[in-house]
Order: sequence, then C-alpha cells, then structure tokens
Amino acid sequence: MERKLAGAHLTINLGALKENYCLLRDKAAPAECAASVKANAYGLGIEKVGPALYAAGCRRFFVALPGEGVTLRALLPDAKIHILAGLLPDTEEIYLAHRLDPVLNSLHDIRQWAAFAKTRGPLHALLHLDTGMTRLGLLEAEIRELAAAPELLNNIEIDFVMSHLSCADVADDPMNREQLEKLEFFRSILPKKLRNTPVSFANSAGIFLGPDYHFDMVRPGIALFGGNPHAGAPNPMREVVHLRGRILRVADVDSEFPVGYGATFRTEGSSRIATVSVGYADGYFRVLGNKAECAINNIKVPVVGRVSMDIITVDVSKVPAGDCAPGAFVDLIGGAVPLDEVAVHADTIPYEVLTALGSRYYREYLDAAV
Ligand SMILES: *Cc1c(COP(=O)(O)O)cnc(C)c1O
Repeated sequence: MERKLAGAHLTINLGALKENYCLLRDKAAPAECAASVKANAYGLGIEKVGPALYAAGCRRFFVALPGEGVTLRALLPDAKIHILAGLLPDTEEIYLAHRLDPVLNSLHDIRQWAAFAKTRGPLHALLHLDTGMTRLGLLEAEIRELAAAPELLNNIEIDFVMSHLSCADVADDPMNREQLEKLEFFRSILPKKLRNTPVSFANSAGIFLGPDYHFDMVRPGIALFGGNPHAGAPNPMREVVHLRGRILRVADVDSEFPVGYGATFRTEGSSRIATVSVGYADGYFRVLGNKAECAINNIKVPVVGRVSMDIITVDVSKVPAGDCAPGAFVDLIGGAVPLDEVAVHADTIPYEVLTALGSRYYREYLDAAV
C-alpha cells in the first residue's frame, strides 16, 4: 500500500538480512549455507529476500511448494531450488522445466520421480530420512525397502541426504542427540551408493548445536529474518523487521473509562489512550489485547482492551504528549519490542508472527551495505 495511505509501515532491512546470512554461513563453515525461504520468505517478500540472499552469496534455496519454486526460479535463474513438499501429482514436467529438485519424502515420491526419470533422466533430488518427526521422510522400513531395490535410483542423482530436527531450539533436549544417532544409523543402511552422499541436517537452531550437526549443508530460515535461534538465550541475530503503526486519535479520559470491544479494560486514574491503526486483519493477533506492549521513543506502553480488526488501543499516559499526537508512530515489532517478545505475548513463535504479517502495510526495504 502507498506510504501516506497505509495505517502501518513495515520496514525490512535487507542489509541486516545479508549480515545474518554471513554470520550463519561463517558459523557453519565449511558446510554450505543454504536458505529456507518458504511461505514468501517467512512473509517478508521473496522478490526482495531471494535476490538479497543471492547477492550475499547464497546459491541454494528451500521452498515448501512447487508454486513457490516457480516464482523463485524467475527471480534467480542460476540458484539451486529444492521443494520440501516433495512431489505433487502430475507436476514432474513443471519441476523439470523450472529446474526444481524435489526432496523425496517417501517411497511413493521415489517411485514417481524414478518413473519420470526413466524417460527424462537423469534427474536430481534430495532424499529425506525421518529421524523423529513422523512428518516427512523415509522411515526405517522404507529405507530397507529402498536398499533392497537400489535400481529405483538408477536415473536419479541424490545430491544430499537430509533430515530435520524437532527440538533444536532447546540445546540440551535429548531428542537432538537421538536424532543425530538415528541419522547415522539410517545412513548406514541406505543403498551402498548413498552411504557417502553429502548430508544436510541443521535448521537455524541446529547450526548453534555445534559442528556435529552441520554435516555438508545447513538450511536456516528464521535466524536469517532476525528470530532468535535459541530459546531463552540472548539473540545473536540482527533485527530485520520493524513494524510501526500510526496514531489516529488520542483521548484524555478519567478513571473507570471502558476501552474497546467487550469493555475488557477500564482505565485506572486519569489516562491518555492512543488509538493505533493496526489490527488483527493485519496479522496483529487478537490474543495480544491486554497483553502485548508497544513503544514510543523506547518507552514501553501497554496494549489495553481488545484488538479490533483495524485498531488497537494503547495506554500512553506516561509518554510526553508531544510524542503521541495523531500521525505519530508507535513501535509494534522491533526496537524496544523484540519480535520474540511479541511472539511470547501471542502464545506463539516468531515464525507465525512473521508469516501472518498482513497485506495492508506500506512495505519499505532497506539495503544498508553489508
Ligand atoms: C522450515 C525448515 C527449515 C528452516 O527452519 P528454521 O527453524 O526456520 O531455521 C529447515 N528445514 C526444513 C525441512 C524446514 O521445513
């Protein structure tokens, strides 16, 4: 939306994004650092994020769906693009035309790609092993079946064997070690020609579990975008997202004034309530009402009353009057209001906060030099 016509401004710092890429790449080296940019680059805009990461040196990208891969291919003609969903029915020609490599998630996927590769191969793919999420990837029985029928892979070049960690954000969770051991075991029972194939295991949090988890390629997502890869520890990443909402109106009221739908909040003592132009239709979750904080010039101020579709109400009594006039901005995400804090207040994770960011914002991309 056009700058003057939007109720809130979303600033995405591509310079910080590139710095985050370089930090993760250096931490994981000598492993290659790919990027997970599914769901429109976690809501931040693949048209800007894809080329920015490429400019920072990233040459390998993961998206969820073939449709996302087609979009990314048009932006990055030379990148490697992997489709985490695997294959969808009747999509093989599209994968080939756009050079999208599926992550083969089951024997079903393998058979489908193999049948196509017989006439159109050799074709590339990644092979996913399910080490503990029961979500995607081959289970032990399927790996044994594949080992007994290695000719299925005759026309398929597996570039990486991969798996995905379920608990990497909690560094001392025993699941991490268990999955690592299972991955090693699964590799040992793969068809012989895959036992030395390069491996990819770590997401953002996995990179911080140490070199045992890096293998040959890592695939961070959230940390690129400024999310904290470790639960409960200081965030080493630079802030990428800043969301500011405009004040529409300021009300000076006495005590016991009801605020918002359901009158769930009443002022205590004389108060100044600012009405800010953002709401749940913009991805500012309704659960944040009476819970989250915003900030004006680094002074934290509470969201009071319910979040409406287009509006929140904020108690700005302690902010100097000159800083909270109509037209002024309130920090909603970023600065004194870290993304991770907003996620905690919304009983969710930063991933969901980012992917929910709405379409009514004025979006501005900064590209400070790295
Ligand atoms: C989304 C995803 C990633 C990236 O995870 P982050 O926690 O955002 O770093 C990596 N691997 C797979 C399979 C994914 O689905």
